[in-house]
Amino acid sequence: MSEDTIFTKIINGDIPADKLYEDDDCICIKDISPQAPTHVLLIPKKPIPRLVDATDEDHALLGKLMLKVGDIARQLGIDEAFRVVVNNGQEAGQTVFHLHLHILAGKKYEEQSG
Ligand code: C5P
Repeated sequence: MSEDTIFTKIINGDIPADKLYEDDDCICIKDISPQAPTHVLLIPKKPIPRLVDATDEDHALLGKLMLKVGDIARQLGIDEAFRVVVNNGQEAGQTVFHLHLHILAGKKYEEQSG
């Protein structure tokens, strides 16, 4: 079996984290190295390594995560302006191979082309 990721250790309570929300399926923590004034991570408890590794079996879980993003954004008071980012693969900047959604807010983003 492959070794637990840092997020599994956080989910299991073996490593501390600043937890904002938790239920049976997911956990939301503050990012330890924030890239914006608000930067939290929504992490399913199921250790899916990358988004692309999700299967039909994960249909409901992925739907729940997207809805939970809205709840968390409302809870944090950022629901009018935030970004959701999922890095998939090392070359795309993924460093922890346990699916997670970055929720970022409070930084003014310039309009991007392309
Ligand atoms: O998408 P990526 O895999 O790069 O994101 C991992 C994120 O997990 C980083 O933003 C990093 O700061 C965060 N992290 C954390 N707590 C840890 C280890 C990593 O919030 N103990």
